Amino acid sequence: MASCELSFEFFPPKTADGLEKLRATRAELATLNPKFVSVTFGAGGSTQQGTLDLVVEMKRDGLEAAPHLSCIGATRDSIRQILKHYQDHDIRHIVALRGDLPSGMGEMGEFRYASDLVEFIRAETGDWFRIEVAAYPEYHPQARSPRHDLDAFVRKIKAGADAAITQYFFNPDAYFRYVDDVRKLGVDVPVTPGIMPITNHSQLMRFSDMCGAEVPRWIAKRLEAFGDDRESIREFGIDVVTDLCQRLLDQGVPGLHFYTLNSAAASRSIYERLNKA
Ligand code: FAD
Repeated sequence: MASCELSFEFFPPKTADGLEKLRATRAELATLNPKFVSVTFGAGGSTQQGTLDLVVEMKRDGLEAAPHLSCIGATRDSIRQILKHYQDHDIRHIVALRGDLPSGMGEMGEFRYASDLVEFIRAETGDWFRIEVAAYPEYHPQARSPRHDLDAFVRKIKAGADAAITQYFFNPDAYFRYVDDVRKLGVDVPVTPGIMPITNHSQLMRFSDMCGAEVPRWIAKRLEAFGDDRESIREFGIDVVTDLCQRLLDQGVPGLHFYTLNSAAASRSIYERLNKA
């Protein structure tokens, strides 16, 4: 584990209780010395100010904080203002995304794809930000074909992105193949695997359905069989995801990016098991 860089992703809570819980989570995970922490940004949503406030708070606490920024539904002016806010607070790391409009929200805005956003950030702010983009080892659900999706990824890197974080996956071969493919297309930036701890069966199936990540049948079946036995789900989930992380680490991945869902316990347990292995 020594050479692997960790990062943790959070979302802006909607309630004061949620914010307090996140502060405790963050403090606990900060003891694992993450390279950075990131905060999601709801496209067209009400939590956008939460992202801005949280990253500034995290930065003040001494963490390298990377806000996510999604461009769908946005205007150039609104993105310019957000970038300025981050520059004013000396935030130098950003995760640039297209985002998904919540259903029923109409306007596409002035950006079409994440590559347009990356291009805009570079044009407006030069090298100020380290820019991460999203990568999809099992391909983005709206992609016309795997090849189109790989090309779209390459476009984001050529537009000026420095690194990528993947959608979560449970099949390491999908990730290895994806990285091989983008290397063949001339991309040499780090592609950090996104890791989703398994703690809740229905939530995992719902998320996976939405984002196009495959939950292998053997995992789905085992989770289903546990029913409401949350402790068994937790134990099984930690086993499965630790094993996945170990296989990735054995192949020299640049880091592990944990989708924490604002909870420290599972990410921390996985980290501790990896260190014991
Ligand atoms: P893009 O790279 O623009 O790709 C979107 C789709 O368009 C793909 O199917 C791609 O193949 C296709 N495409 C791209 N360029 C072209 C082109 N020129 N011509 C034709 N097709 C093209 N969402 C949020 O709302 N907030 C977040 O904070 C957030 N954080 C995320 C963090 C990570 C690490 C990941 C993996 C995802 C995150 N998402 C977030 C979800 C993401 O916004 C969605 O997956 C969204 O649908 C795609 O965003 P993207 O940046 O990958 O888009």
